[in-house]
Amino acid sequence: MVRRLETLALMVGLAACGRGGTNAAEEDRLGFAGATLAAMENLADSRVAKRLFGAMDSASQQTSEAIGFYSRGCAAGNIQLAETGPTWQAMRLSRNRNWGQPILVDFLQDLSAFAATQPGWAGLYIGDLSQPRGGPMLTGHASHQIGLDADIWMLPPDRLNLTPAERESLSSIRTDANRGAAVNGAWSPAHAAILERAARDPRVERIFVFPAAKVWMCERATGDTSWLGKIRLLANHNYHFHVRLSCPAGDPSCEAQDPVPAGDGCAEARQAVANILNPPPPDPNYVPPPPRGDVLMSDLPGQCLAVLTAD
Ligand SMILES: [Zn+2]
Repeated sequence: MVRRLETLALMVGLAACGRGGTNAAEEDRLGFAGATLAAMENLADSRVAKRLFGAMDSASQQTSEAIGFYSRGCAAGNIQLAETGPTWQAMRLSRNRNWGQPILVDFLQDLSAFAATQPGWAGLYIGDLSQPRGGPMLTGHASHQIGLDADIWMLPPDRLNLTPAERESLSSIRTDANRGAAVNGAWSPAHAAILERAARDPRVERIFVFPAAKVWMCERATGDTSWLGKIRLLANHNYHFHVRLSCPAGDPSCEAQDPVPAGDGCAEARQAVANILNPPPPDPNYVPPPPRGDVLMSDLPGQCLAVLTAD
């Protein structure tokens, strides 16, 4: 019980500190409902979840289901994004993170086909999705745990015959300047078109990118701009952008994130750029969030044990 209360306190703290403005907490913000769901199960299992999920090299032979929250869950019945397709290549194959729920793999294939219509783009170079059974990772990423998140490189692919070795050594390119307050010369209308296409896709819940990219799109969008509300600001999303899908219909254990705020969010994006260029004085009442310990099996929904032990 003590463990459960601590877990709840930590999660509520995380949820509270993430409210409002540009912040790094949004990517892995856990809603209160997620905290209660996660804390109800597996109470006695104190094993560190990333060691277990990080050791799995194949998906579970189960019906596909996203279980838990984006930053606290696992994925049953993931499928593998093919290492190479007509309009994409999966990068950094050694990480074995080209696994996701079928809806995510479908989405990425569709988006890559659109990207291939853009000048200079043969398709998409696709970075991390999830591990074979999702779950926390040994390195990187607070989220990407339930097979519904994917990182997409900003580097326009000029060819789709990269060898596995090239996919380890090639780097993406940054598209920002001034710490996210401006786009640089590598940013192009094609980047914006691909982001818009993703944001307009009904499967997409939100997209993370650096502030100036959103401002660039805000300044040029015409007509219905409500899709811009799905474009969310997050530091360090300058070499890649991150697409998060909504919980698939029929996945009862998938925990939805708080919906994005109404409106296009363009004023917020402009303010974020202004704050980068002219940082406001630090808030004297700011309390840094407590350090986050390892996610334990007891922090995950109970079904994640079955995902781990399934064939
Ligand atoms: Zn990501």
